[in-house]
Amino acid sequence: MVGFEYAKKSDNASNKNNLLSDAVINLDHGDPTAFEEYWRKMGDRCTVVIKGWELMSYFSDVNKVCWFMEPELENAIRGLHAAVGNAATEERYIVVGTGSTQLCQAAVHSLSSLRPCGTHPVSVVAAAPYYSTYVEETTYVRSEMYRWGGDARRYEKEEGPYIELVTSPNNPDGTMREEVVKRPQGKVIYDLAYYWPHFTPITHRPHHDIMLFTFSKLSGHAGSRIGWALVKDKEVAKKMVEYIMVNSIGVSKESQMRAAKVLNVMTETCRSHSDSFFLYGRDKMKNRWDKLREVVEQQSDDIFTLPKYPEAFCNFFGKPIGSYPAFAWLAIGCHEESDLGSLLMKQKVLTRSGNRCGSDKNHVRASMLCRDDVFSLFLHRLASITIPATDSLH
Ligand code: PMP
Repeated sequence: MVGFEYAKKSDNASNKNNLLSDAVINLDHGDPTAFEEYWRKMGDRCTVVIKGWELMSYFSDVNKVCWFMEPELENAIRGLHAAVGNAATEERYIVVGTGSTQLCQAAVHSLSSLRPCGTHPVSVVAAAPYYSTYVEETTYVRSEMYRWGGDARRYEKEEGPYIELVTSPNNPDGTMREEVVKRPQGKVIYDLAYYWPHFTPITHRPHHDIMLFTFSKLSGHAGSRIGWALVKDKEVAKKMVEYIMVNSIGVSKESQMRAAKVLNVMTETCRSHSDSFFLYGRDKMKNRWDKLREVVEQQSDDIFTLPKYPEAFCNFFGKPIGSYPAFAWLAIGCHEESDLGSLLMKQKVLTRSGNRCGSDKNHVRASMLCRDDVFSLFLHRLASITIPATDSLH
């Protein structure tokens, strides 16, 4: 399992505070440590105290479909979406998960198990370039109910039941996405992990049947392992809850309470000029993207290219803004069929190769969410790359 091997490699400089100038920097995973500074400045506002006798039960509210979800978390999720305007929560069940990784698997399980007998396996597809973890999530347990079906654009011409995973803004390339297969027997799971105003303009309020969000990429609290799904259909939500029950008998209450606290602070401060997380996050991401684009543009011979994102009116900020995605989808411009991942590795920069995302080795995905010192080193190493005209990178 490639994904897990990469995880092991993460015990490098990007996880330590004293960065050695010759250390390999890991931009392969998207560990969202970039926002630590903001939360540190918030001091005790997000401190949660849990007494020894509290939160001991498996249960939170047995009258709810998602009986292991703390009411405080549900209220905090609904409150934040209402304040930001990035998803419809009315007439929807909320299912909490151990990260949206668990919820994505729960949703795939739910949708495929609700299909009539004899219509399995269901193909799970996503338009390339896609989030490479979807491949692992749909193949690892070798389910008989679903199987990874690859690039959704290639699947368009095929018959049969399918589930399309739509990531918007997309991981790895930051583009806004819609479903591509569009057949009546298909189901769609919208992964909206990055549909927040520090990454992208909030142009509309999606109201899809299944929408996934994660605490990890919203605030940077990946270690809490909290995600949530907004689900229209009660049966689908119940099956997802059943999956989570079999898988982990619910979700850590301590994590839920911490997430509730942090989400509430985000809601309270979201209109503040001095304390707003989204203002801080947007400025931080914009600053990083401006610097990265500067380095790429200063390179002679257009060695690298980055996608360009159109400005759009953001309903949250009330003005047109650009997109500043969580990952840079970097391409090597002047050498066709070059292995950009290997080239960057020679400079001690570990990235995720495009071929793991259903694309090619000319592309890599590099995290934009690392700590400041790692990001500076990344820019420095990128700027120092030169490719002689005769050099072959194959
Ligand atoms: N979906 C997408 C598109 C992601 O990029 C990520 C995190 N890399 C996840 C889901 C998983 O997030 P979590 O930490 O909540 O499992």
